[in-house]
Amino acid sequence: MAEATVDLGAIAHNTRVLKRAMGQAGLMAVVKADGFGHGAVPAARAAVAAGADWLGVTSAMEAMQLREAGLDAPVLAWMCGPQDDLAALAEAGVTLSVATLSHLDAIAAEASRRGVALDVHIKADTGLSRGGATRNTWPELFGWARKYETGGQIRVRGLWSHLANAEDPGAESLAAQQSAFAEAVELARAAGLAPDVLHLANSAGILQVPSARFDLGRAGIALYGVPPVPGVDFDLRPAMTVRARVVQAGDGRAVLPLGFGYGVPRGLGGVAEVLIHGVRRPISGPVSMDHLVIDTGELPVTEGDEAVLFGSGARGEPTVVEQAEHAGTNAHELLTGIGVRLPRRHLLHTEA
Ligand SMILES: *Cc1c(COP(=O)(O)O)cnc(C)c1O
Repeated sequence: MAEATVDLGAIAHNTRVLKRAMGQAGLMAVVKADGFGHGAVPAARAAVAAGADWLGVTSAMEAMQLREAGLDAPVLAWMCGPQDDLAALAEAGVTLSVATLSHLDAIAAEASRRGVALDVHIKADTGLSRGGATRNTWPELFGWARKYETGGQIRVRGLWSHLANAEDPGAESLAAQQSAFAEAVELARAAGLAPDVLHLANSAGILQVPSARFDLGRAGIALYGVPPVPGVDFDLRPAMTVRARVVQAGDGRAVLPLGFGYGVPRGLGGVAEVLIHGVRRPISGPVSMDHLVIDTGELPVTEGDEAVLFGSGARGEPTVVEQAEHAGTNAHELLTGIGVRLPRRHLLHTEA
C-alpha cells in the first residue's frame, strides 16, 4: 500500500500566510497541474474557504473541472487560445488571459454571438520570453482591445505579467521586469484601457517583493507549503506526505511498493533516504517502476511497517525539497510528477 496524503489544513494555513502578505490586495490560488499534484478541486476548496479570492489554471480543461465541481470563485486561465471551446468557457464565466490579436478577435466574436461583453486579462511579456504579448505588439493589441471595449464585446479587467527570479530580490531582471510592466500599464491607459486588476507576483514575489504585489498575487508552490526561497522560513506548512507500507522484509532490506511509475524520481536510488521506525534509512538500490528497496540495517522491520518518502519534516522525514535536490530537480517537478497511480487521501486537518 502506498499513498499520498494531502493536508488541507496546511493549504488553508498557507493561504492565510499568503493572504496576510498581500494585505488589502487579492490572492489567487494557482491550482494548475492538478493543484501541483495535490488535487485541484480539494486544494481550491481549501484555499477559497481560507480566503483566496481567485483561482488560477492554465488550460480550459482545468478551468472547467473547477466549475464542474461547483467552485464559483473567479477563475483565470492563461494558456488558452482561439482553438479552445470559447463558448463553454464564456458560459462557465472563466476569465481568459490574452496575449495575441487572433485570440482577442476570437473572444470578441464569441461575445458578439452571445450579446455580452467578456472579461479578459491581457498578459504582457516583460522580459521572461515565456508567453505574453511582446513589447512591439503592445500598442496594436491595446488599441484593438479598446476598440472591442467601445464595441461592447470585451472588458479588459486585468493586465499582468510573470515575474521571474523573485526568489533573489537583488536580481537585475526584477527591476527591469517591473519597469517594463509599468510601461505596459502606462501604454494600456494611454490607449484608453482601465484594467483594475494588475498582477505580477508569484509565490516568491508575494512573500518578498512588496513592489510587485499590486492588486493580486498568484501563489503556486507556497500554497502547498514549499518555501519559494530555499532556506527561508515563511511559516509555510508542507501539505503532501508520500508513504508506503513494506511489502517484504528480511536480510536487512525492505521492499516498498513505490517507484518511478508513481512519480518517484529514479535519481533517488542510492542517494536518498526514507523515514522508517523513526529513523532515516537509505534507498539502497535503483528505483524501479514499481518498487524500491531500502537498507534497513539492524532495524526489526516487518511487512506492513510504514516508510515515509517525504512529508512535512516534523518527524524527521525528508521534505519534498530535500528529495528534489537529491533527484537533481525542484519541488515543483517532483510534486506535479506524482501520478494518478498513487491514491490521494485528503485530510481536513493537520494530523498530530
Ligand atoms: C505556475 C504559475 C504561478 C505560480 O508560481 P509559483 O512560483 O509556484 O508561486 C504563478 N503565475 C503563473 C503565470 C504561473 O504559470
